Parts: sequence; structure tokens; C-alpha cells
Amino acid sequence: MSTTSKYIFVTGGVTSSLGKGIISSSLGKLLQARGFTVTIQKFDPYINIDPGTLNPYEHGECYVTDDGAETDLDLGHYERFLNTPTSQANNITTGRIYNNVITKERKGEYLGKTVQVVPHITDEIKRNIHLLGESGKYDFVINEIGGSVGDIESLPFLEAVRQVRWELGANNAIVIHLTLIPYLAAAKELKTKPTQHSVKELLSYGIQPDILVCRTEHPLPMEIRKKLALFCNVNLNSVIEAIDAETIYDVPLLMRKEKLDERVLSKLKMVAKQEPELEQWKTFLGKLKNPVDEVTIGLVGKYVSLPDAYKSIAEAFIHAGSQNDAKVRLKWISSEDINKDTVEDILGGLHGVLVAPGFGERGLEGKIAAIRYVREQKIPFLGICLGMQMAVVEYARNVMGMTEASTTELNPKTKYPVIDMMEEQKKITTKGGTMRLGAYTCKLKKGSKAYAIYGDTVIHERHRHRYEFNNKYLHQFEEAGMKAVGVNPDSELVEVIELKDHPWFIGVQYHPELKSTVLNPHPLFVGFVEAALKNKKNDL
Ligand code: GLN
Repeated sequence: MSTTSKYIFVTGGVTSSLGKGIISSSLGKLLQARGFTVTIQKFDPYINIDPGTLNPYEHGECYVTDDGAETDLDLGHYERFLNTPTSQANNITTGRIYNNVITKERKGEYLGKTVQVVPHITDEIKRNIHLLGESGKYDFVINEIGGSVGDIESLPFLEAVRQVRWELGANNAIVIHLTLIPYLAAAKELKTKPTQHSVKELLSYGIQPDILVCRTEHPLPMEIRKKLALFCNVNLNSVIEAIDAETIYDVPLLMRKEKLDERVLSKLKMVAKQEPELEQWKTFLGKLKNPVDEVTIGLVGKYVSLPDAYKSIAEAFIHAGSQNDAKVRLKWISSEDINKDTVEDILGGLHGVLVAPGFGERGLEGKIAAIRYVREQKIPFLGICLGMQMAVVEYARNVMGMTEASTTELNPKTKYPVIDMMEEQKKITTKGGTMRLGAYTCKLKKGSKAYAIYGDTVIHERHRHRYEFNNKYLHQFEEAGMKAVGVNPDSELVEVIELKDHPWFIGVQYHPELKSTVLNPHPLFVGFVEAALKNKKNDL
């Protein structure tokens, strides 16, 4: 427990996509492994209030927290690495900052004053920077600043960082600049110039980075480190190499080798409580890298050309694979490619199939065709959110004889609306932040597969949807062999369905992938991979 948090800012230079989220998470992991409490927050420079309204093609997956915040996918990394939940306070956008300031202005809180970027927007950013630190729960608050230095949008955030650093002093707030050291193949040389320029740019905003973390494809020789130190005014031992890693989960160990955590502790005048305790992490990595078996699982979705759209699902498979000592190969399948003529070619031979979450009607018929195939062929199936809903539609159409059954998302006039919009959703007209969001309780029926997998009757899982299983048809479904084995105890919404006559067929209305972490792989994914392995050996 700490009353005064130390602040670490992580900025990015030269290009985007250098992995600020992974560096922040890895540093957080190392500090946590030394016995400190850590949280990581992300500041995003775009004007959307949150990424909930962004197309996954634009921005990758929208990550949902327990408290129902729709957030940037980097928060998923924070949770997967630190194994502690994040919340709305961990993700702030320019849109939210402006919204707060403008709301205050309308209330008259700035009466008489001209409301300006400096100081009002920057003050609001600073208030948010301090919010989690002031809770007294964290020794360290790591602040990832989205975008790259030089973007117009990032300016108010960098000004806020400059001010916080000035106000708190160099012993309480430091800046880590993540940058790229490109390798010119023709010259066979690593180049420091872009980094020099990027640091100059930071300096022009009044920010001197304390530590440089350098993304590189090749090891950084001493003369390059010296050059960077001299031209960027950082200590030689604060030039940290971040070499391309085999997996993101190697990065904490690579950062440990480069002593990033030690540099941070020394700059912030903190005494290490202990050496980082990373045994479990290393066991996970060891199993991940030395699989004894392998399975291929099809991931059927609409946005498969951008794997970031299903980031948490892909990571959950990595966790579950390691747990099962198996390599999970994901075959990314566009639901639009599947129909009754292609389904056998595309799905035949897979050891398991996951039908992904999603929105809108595109590709729905392909998902239904895929589910019919795996149901009939007895291939292990996990349906998540829209995937579960399509399993319900498929069963109604092809087993229960309701050939016109559908979800009202696809066909609002369907004769059999087996999936329908939730009552409370029908009145809602705005899109942002209005779905059924965040963690809800679900009660599992004893004797079900889900109960055996979770080993508990009461679970809490995160949601993000507007439609639900239509309870009007529940009795008919149960009679026909599709069982509602998980139900919300307050609203009676169906959360988990299973098939009686299938070795492993589970649909969940919630998103289990959001709660899978390195140290706690999600039981449903672990169970699914296990079933796929058994299926491969024909003993399911
Ligand atoms: N589109 C569906 C709904 O809103 C499913 C959402 C999802 O898969 N996250 O209910």
C-alpha cells in the first residue's frame, strides 16, 4: 500500500506500432514481480469518447473491463501481464477529456473564464493522470501516451506530462521514450538519426526522456548505445535494447536482462524489495516453447484479415495451449467464405472450431453453416457472443424445424426471433456505451460441462451485446436437446448453452477471452484445447 505513487510515462517516437503497450506491461510485470503494486493507464489521442464505436478494422478489438468500460486493446495486455483487473479509469481519450471539460463549462464551473487547451484541457488530463495514483493503492502508475511524438493530437498530453514531471520532480516522475533504431540492409548499419530527431522533438516540448527503449531487429552494439546516450542526453545504462522477440511474453525477461526495472527504480529512488519473482512466468514460457502436441483450431469471424480484431481470443489460446503443453495453430477463416458447398473443404480436419463475436449481418449465414457442420461432425465447438447466438439460430433452423428462425439483428421481421434485442435495449437510440457491458454473475447448472470446466456454480464474466437468447423459446430448445446451463440469476438471461448429444459444444453469451491471463488461463479455453487434443486422438 502506498500513498504517494511514482509516475512513469511511456511515450513513443519515430513510428507507431513499436509496442508501447507491451513495454509498459513488461515493466509493470517486473515491478510487480519485485513486490510493488502497479497499475497501467492508457491515454489515447483520438476524439471518440471511447473505442466502443470504432470499427475493429480501424483499431482492433474493443476490450471490455469488469466495470463495463469499452477500452483500448492495450488494456488487455495490461491485464494479461499483471493479472489484475483494469477499469474505466485506466483508459482516457481526448474525446473524454474534452467531454468532461465542456460538461463543466456548461455547468458554469469556469464562469467568466475563457476555456482553453492550456490550462483547462491539460488540467483535466493531469487530473486523470493522478486519479489512480491518488487511490493510494499503487506504488507505480505507468502512463502509456498513445500516438507518436510529433502528432498534433498528442500535444496536450505531452504538455501535461511536462507539467506533472515538473511539479512532482525527477524522483517521482520519469519519462521512458520508446523509439525505433532502423537497420539499413544495404549499408549493414543501425541508424540512430530518427531517434535523435524524435528526442529533439520531445525536448522542444520541454521533456527530457530519462530512459530510451530502442526497438531493433539487431543487437545494439556499444558504440550505438554510446552515440544514443551522448546525443539524447541519457545515461549510457539507460539506453535499453528492445530486440524483436519470439513472443510478446518474452519481453519482460528481455527487459529484465537489459535492467529496465533497475534503471526505473534507481531513477525514482526506490529500493527494490526483492529480485523479481518470475518462476510461474518462466514455467508458462517454457511450456509455451516446448509443446508436446499440436492442434489446429478454426477461428471463424468477420474481421479475420486483421488479427488484432480478435486479440484477446488469440492470446487466450496461447495461454490455454501452454497449459495443455500443446501448440495451438489458429486457422483464420472468413465467415463470408463458408457456405454449404465450401464448408467441408474449409473446416474438415480441424480439431476444434471457434465462432467469434461480431456485429451486423455480414457473414452470419457462413457462421450458421460452420456451426451446422461442427455440430453434425461432432467437432469441439466454442461459440462466443454472436457465435453462441448463431448456434441457437442454427439449432432452431436445422434441428427444431423452425426454418425461418433468426436473430432480429439479421432479420427484424423473422417469424421465429430466437435471438432478440433485450427489452431494455429497445428504448436506446444512441450507440456509444449503451450495450449490456461489463461483468455479470452467471449461475451454472451442476452436471453441465461448463460446471465441470469452471469447477464452480457462480461465475462472473464480461459482456458486450444488445441481443439475447429469447426465453420464450427456452422450453422448446431444452426439449430438443439444447440446454441453457448458465443463467443470470437476476435477469434470467441465458448465458451458456450446451448440446446434449455432442461431446463438446458450448456457446457463451459473454466474452471469456477477456479474462484469460498468463497466470490464470481461462478454463473454457483450457477445456476447449483439451477437447481439441482429444478429438485429434479420436478419444473425445
Ligand atoms: N451483435 C450481437 C449483439 O449485439 C453480438 C455481439 C458480440 O458478439 N459481442 O448481441
